[in-house]
Amino acid sequence: MTNDWAIELKEVSKKYITKTGINYAVANVNLSVKAGEFISLVGPSGCGKTTILSLIAGLFPPSSGDIYIYGQKVEGPTSKVGYMLQQDYLFPWRSIYQNILLGLEITKTLNRETEQHALYLLEEMGLIDYRHHYPHQLSGGMRQRVALVRTLATEPDILLLDEPFSALDYQTKLRLEDLVCNTLKKHAKTAVLVTHDLSEAVAMSDTVYVLSRNPGRINQIIEIPPVISEKTPLASRNTPEFQTYFKRLWEELDVYEDR
Ligand code: ADP
Ligand code: MG
Repeated sequence: MTNDWAIELKEVSKKYITKTGINYAVANVNLSVKAGEFISLVGPSGCGKTTILSLIAGLFPPSSGDIYIYGQKVEGPTSKVGYMLQQDYLFPWRSIYQNILLGLEITKTLNRETEQHALYLLEEMGLIDYRHHYPHQLSGGMRQRVALVRTLATEPDILLLDEPFSALDYQTKLRLEDLVCNTLKKHAKTAVLVTHDLSEAVAMSDTVYVLSRNPGRINQIIEIPPVISEKTPLASRNTPEFQTYFKRLWEELDVYEDR
């Protein structure tokens, strides 16, 4: 059976059992992401964004509902899915070169060909000259690029990005948004981005999902028109439509803010 959906969540709920009782982190989430699509999840902190990414990554099962990757039920982590976090988690005692090969070592897929591909990605990110450096010798933006190379090196079809730019200064963040968007488009990846930054969500995504909390639910699905999504994130910010969508998202989220 062929399946056009890269990711599907069907009536997915996840409850955590705590000392004070049962906490529904997410409830009845339905989500379908097409192959090659870039979506963002936005919403107040604690609305279940990270929980949704971890469920898609197969780190733990949902309490109810089902998750599918290319039509196959998720029953644990798979090499089809790469997960990149806010913190780069590079190993300080390993060189950049050794760090980008880590995923390949773990998945036992390190060979001449996969090593060459990792080095090609490092070159693409403009970091080939730094391969013998160590993480502490690099800036935050460079380290995130290394983390991205490490994630892409195992050739996942799907990338889960949990606030990967939030620790970076504004200019680095804008540059990296463009680089990541272009790289993912070029390699035809499907991506789910979690971000606090509404302008980042509008600039990078084809679709933005707005969540509310207690329990986490999808409240709004906002499709970003091609006039924005077909441009690079930086260029899209200069379109008049960008402001319209930014404002709409802002108003959507304002409803859930604590006052
Ligand atoms: P977000 O990423 O949107 O900030 P999370 O997915 O981290 O939200 O958390 C959603 C909800 O689940 C929150 O109420 C949080 O406190 C709760 N939660 C997350 N992880 C755990 C856990 N391991 N045990 C208990 N509760 C958790
Ligand atoms: Mg989170």
